[in-house]
Amino acid sequence: MHTTVAHTPAGEEARALCERHLEGRGVRIADIAAIVLDLQRPFVPGLDVAECVESVEAVLSKREVCNALLTGIALDTLAERGALPEPLQSTVLHDDPLYGIDEVLALAVVNIYGSIGFTNFGYLDKVKPGIVGLVDGRGHGPERCDTFLDDLIAAVAAAAAARIAHGHRDTR
Ligand SMILES: [Mg+2]
Repeated sequence: MHTTVAHTPAGEEARALCERHLEGRGVRIADIAAIVLDLQRPFVPGLDVAECVESVEAVLSKREVCNALLTGIALDTLAERGALPEPLQSTVLHDDPLYGIDEVLALAVVNIYGSIGFTNFGYLDKVKPGIVGLVDGRGHGPERCDTFLDDLIAAVAAAAAARIAHGHRDTR
């Protein structure tokens, strides 16, 4: 018997896949880049939105980031359909504050450019600027579940900002 095994892509294909899934949940790369710009502007004179978009795209082209995004978005989507087994279904749908696996999954993204990403993520998770706050605030179930998505977006922004921080130190 022949079975086809699909693998999560890396590089440009991963970026395109992530972008498609994010857009399916109403999130654009430009929305994430806007957060990156706000985070890094005080430290990087002359930083512009184009460089932030480029950094977000670089983060999204990593396989582990793509895996985390696809996993989180799949769980959010399944919760919206009532397709998860209990007690996971209720826990994810209602974003139980004691669940915490949404933050744990986001950590897979946060640390790819070192500990600056971790600090950035803590800040974004608390302040919830821009698209992070929008996604967090648009409510939970039964028709809408973004338990994983808000953390994943914050994590991608945090990693993209850390990448810029490291890049500018190296080229100075
Ligand atoms: Mg969450």
